[in-house]
Amino acid sequence: MERETQLAHARLPAVERGTIHPFHDGQPGPVYYQRYAHPVGLEAERLIGELEGGPALLFPSGMGATTALTLAMLHPGARIAVAHGGYYGTFGMLSGELSRWGLEVVAFDQTGPPPEADLVWLEPCANPFMTFPDLDASIAAAHEAGARVVVDNTVLSPLLLRPLEHGADFVLHSASKILGGHHDALLGVVTCARPEDHERLLAFRGATGIVAAPDPAWLLVRGLKTLGVRVQRQSETALELARRLQGHPFVQAVRYPGLGDPVAARYVSAFGMLLSFDVADAEQALAVERGLRLIENATSLGGIASTLEARARYEGDRVPPGLLRLSAGLENVEDLWTDLAQTLDALG
Ligand code: PLP
Repeated sequence: MERETQLAHARLPAVERGTIHPFHDGQPGPVYYQRYAHPVGLEAERLIGELEGGPALLFPSGMGATTALTLAMLHPGARIAVAHGGYYGTFGMLSGELSRWGLEVVAFDQTGPPPEADLVWLEPCANPFMTFPDLDASIAAAHEAGARVVVDNTVLSPLLLRPLEHGADFVLHSASKILGGHHDALLGVVTCARPEDHERLLAFRGATGIVAAPDPAWLLVRGLKTLGVRVQRQSETALELARRLQGHPFVQAVRYPGLGDPVAARYVSAFGMLLSFDVADAEQALAVERGLRLIENATSLGGIASTLEARARYEGDRVPPGLLRLSAGLENVEDLWTDLAQTLDALG
């Protein structure tokens, strides 16, 4: 059965909010206290685990998942090599916060082999530089050097890429993006290749209380039901917009792996909803942000509404001043293009 068919069934769990469930015959059951597990969370984990091909654990955000994974699996003095040009919050948090606890963090170009490290962090369709690693080669090289590998699969989703099949040790998502898909749930998820890593992370999550609540977990379960059509449609729209942006005289560069990245094409048949493009400078980027009427000038990605923002406001000179990140939503592609074209034409 195709994976989107598996998701599209009608059954939905109740939003069970109880923090406690009575013991049976003096024995705590599997959901006796919400910090360890709750029914809706278990259902969300079951669905994502089936999609990714390994046991999944839910966290209250993507960054919560990143924090839990690194603290649970590493030790002071460990080295993490993070894909340069991927989500700036990952490198920022690891180097800004966790380095105080003895973790060393380095950035590297994920289109080449990873450097020596204990943990290698890859991000296919890196947000916002859109680079794509040669997963098989990078993961094999990391393993040979004794490192373990996390793949942040937020942009593609397990419908387009299943990193465990390429040897990844962990798959991480900000489920606040395409998995939830409706801009209404902040969540993260980690899937482990090995049962012992799953056990370790589960124990760490319960002990630290970095857990997701039932309400966002329920929204995730509901959102997953339409994941198949959303991924397909949003990927098609992103590809079409990327092609048209390439032909616009005021667009200096377009980054989208679907525009001919030969490495990406070996791993995926569609390239996700995210792209970035450059206008001349910060002033023009602001003019685009202000000029849009349909596309939301807002942060985040992967939701049903198209969103666009200049990334330099957060990432500083890590990105070109005119870099705009665009996440294609479910709107009609012609309407989206009309909005972009009228805004870009006005730059002249
Ligand atoms: N990974 C990627 C690729 C992201 O884009 C984000 C957020 O933008 C995160 C992780 C962090 O996720 P969250 O915002 O759910 O904490």
